[in-house]
Amino acid sequence: MQLLDGKALSAKIEKTVADEVKILKSKTGSVPGLAVILVGQDPASAAYVSMKKKACDRVGFYSVTHEMPEDISQDAIEKTITMMNDNPNIDGILIQLPLPSQIDTTKILELVNPSKDVDGFHPYNVGRLTTGLDGFVPCTPLGVMELLDEYNIDVKGKNCVVVGASNIVGKPMASLLLNANATVEICHIFTDDLKKHTLNADMIFVGAGVINLIKEDMVKDGAVIIDIGINRADNGKLVGDVDFEKVSKKCSYITPVPGGVGPMTIAMLLSNTLKAAQAHADERE
Ligand code: NAD
Repeated sequence: MQLLDGKALSAKIEKTVADEVKILKSKTGSVPGLAVILVGQDPASAAYVSMKKKACDRVGFYSVTHEMPEDISQDAIEKTITMMNDNPNIDGILIQLPLPSQIDTTKILELVNPSKDVDGFHPYNVGRLTTGLDGFVPCTPLGVMELLDEYNIDVKGKNCVVVGASNIVGKPMASLLLNANATVEICHIFTDDLKKHTLNADMIFVGAGVINLIKEDMVKDGAVIIDIGINRADNGKLVGDVDFEKVSKKCSYITPVPGGVGPMTIAMLLSNTLKAAQAHADERE
């Protein structure tokens, strides 16, 4: 079994992004800018935003966080997004999800200019992904594809089972795999007999948010296991959705949690923001 080291690969990607930032700055005089909208006091969301901000600092991006109270109105968030859409110093806009229940999240995501949609959540970019066109791809599944590429793991013709069907993880993961010519099955909470599906998989991609969802007897020998889940165990430790100790003895490759997909997500946010900045700079030329 070999570990897929997302920490090492993300450090390598950060270095490349930082080098590209210097080149962009010498050509245009400006650096990529990322605006983050953080609503409410959820500690997990605040922690993610803080990690993203630190990563921006490390590679030399300009970044700004708009912190808003839990009871903020739809109108106030929309005004901020419109301001960021019009701001030439901002190349990427990230709305930290989930938003409070009084907010229409779809409307908010649709307001972001697709050329600044570095999370790839705008229906325009979702459509481009499903049709196999270039655009912005959600950072977590994009990071998974980078990790597979780094270890020369080809998905073409492989039976890939994606467990979890959210718009930010499972569905774009499945689209990317399909675009790369894998045979893809998507399982979710209503899937009958999950084991029947996973046992047939050459590769399992799980992002369900359920500790130990994928157990040893659900995995065939030599399978590739990508654990996207991030959960807090009773002992306070971060764990994924896979019973790592037992499954790792059976599989060919596996991502650790932490240190697997998590750091890749942040690295892809940086690379998407750089891509947006480079496109905006080209437009201005
Ligand atoms: P979500 O709640 O929006 O979606 C969960 C999906 O899993 C749903 O499609 C649901 O049907 C499915 N599911 C839930 N229980 C299941 C079960 N028992 N069997 C089969 N399917 C089941 O969650 P999300 O936002 O997609 O996140 C999923 C997990 O991925 C969470 O642990 C989250 O913390 C993690 N995550 C990690 C990263 C990262 O950077 N590594 C990024 C985003 C999310």
